[in-house]
Amino acid sequence: MVCGRRYSPGEVAYVCSEEGAEGVLDARYDYAAASPAFQADELAGGSADMWRYRALLPLAESDPTPPLAVGMTPLYASPRLAKLAGVAGVLLKDDSRQPTGSFKDRASALAVALAMKAGAKAVTTASTGNAAAALAGMAASVGMPCVIFVPASAPKAKITQLLAFGARVVLVRGSYDQAFDLCLAASERTGWYNRNTAFNPFMTEGKKTVAFEIWEQCGRTVPDVVAVSVGDGCIIGALGKGFRELRAMGLIDRLPRLVGVQAEGSDYMTRAFESGADPLTMGPITASTVADSLSAGLPRDRLKAMLAARESGGVFLRVSDAEILAAIPELAAHSGVFAEPAAAAAWAGLRRAARQGIVRPEETACVLVTGTGLKDVDAAARGCAEAGLAAMEIDPAPAALDASLTTLNRLIR
Ligand SMILES: *Cc1c(COP(=O)(O)O)cnc(C)c1O
Repeated sequence: MVCGRRYSPGEVAYVCSEEGAEGVLDARYDYAAASPAFQADELAGGSADMWRYRALLPLAESDPTPPLAVGMTPLYASPRLAKLAGVAGVLLKDDSRQPTGSFKDRASALAVALAMKAGAKAVTTASTGNAAAALAGMAASVGMPCVIFVPASAPKAKITQLLAFGARVVLVRGSYDQAFDLCLAASERTGWYNRNTAFNPFMTEGKKTVAFEIWEQCGRTVPDVVAVSVGDGCIIGALGKGFRELRAMGLIDRLPRLVGVQAEGSDYMTRAFESGADPLTMGPITASTVADSLSAGLPRDRLKAMLAARESGGVFLRVSDAEILAAIPELAAHSGVFAEPAAAAAWAGLRRAARQGIVRPEETACVLVTGTGLKDVDAAARGCAEAGLAAMEIDPAPAALDASLTTLNRLIR
């Protein structure tokens, strides 16, 4: 992505040997050869998970994959959300239902498959939480040792998930960016298979499967817009790549516009987009947001992210922490889908995009729900409290029930 050098499969493990850790690679395939595998009758016989797209993944037919069911998550049409946003249609792509509760399972499942293929002794990653939980879960499913570097400030639920999956957890008293550098050094010294986002180019490959699913679930077409939250930029980059690959195979003739949603306190991509700065040279910002999964001072996948937004005619925009917290109960109450802050941010971003005319009233937008609300219950509780949502508490007595029914009937009317 940086210098244009090309490598054949297996020639380098992760990054460009000239550019070093910043020399992120982009996998290319023979799209004419892959396109028969994407015809409707071929896909009809495929497995109901992400491996149905193996023709465009870096795995052979015989390579084993983790047994957990990753991908082919539901796509819900939500007329009530559409009305709220003031657009013709809203589709929720519900990746909160992945095995470990987040979108990151798509990448981590492929990482573990590749680690098995490489005969690695262990897998490792740095993460703000979800990528680590996903890697730990996928590793546990095949009995592979896993070492995780996370900031000590990661939510308790995410750290608990790691420990329960049997991962070796290193809490770094510092930022995600610092944990990332330590993890790179550790894998260089040990040979552990490294899943780090934008260092391992194949994480994009696992994540792009969501674009293929949206296309299939929309009846082999694509929505006008896809809204996705952005931290490191790997997911939006992967969405862009997936849709470009569908176009390269002649399966779609236009790309959905990608709306990259950032938290106000972690808005590197939005700043670069608005100012026209080159993300290759623009320096880091200081990142801080309630949406811990979106906190990235120097988005590791900023080149792929910028390409995805620009190529598709999309944008980056920012939403406040207050909007993100409010979006949690709003999304949940109007759809039955409970999202963590980073995932609810995509819904908040769609609302903002519709208000600003970036998404027009006659258009249909897909919102990618990237993680479950159970990942960060404290943040969800704050969102409920700020929306004035509270339970009522009563004594276990008939008179108390009478009084509460009066109130409940008024609320339900
Ligand atoms: C990682 C993550 C994101 C952001 O993805 P990036 O590739 O870092 O931009 C959004 N939502 C959730 C729940 C995540 O875990």
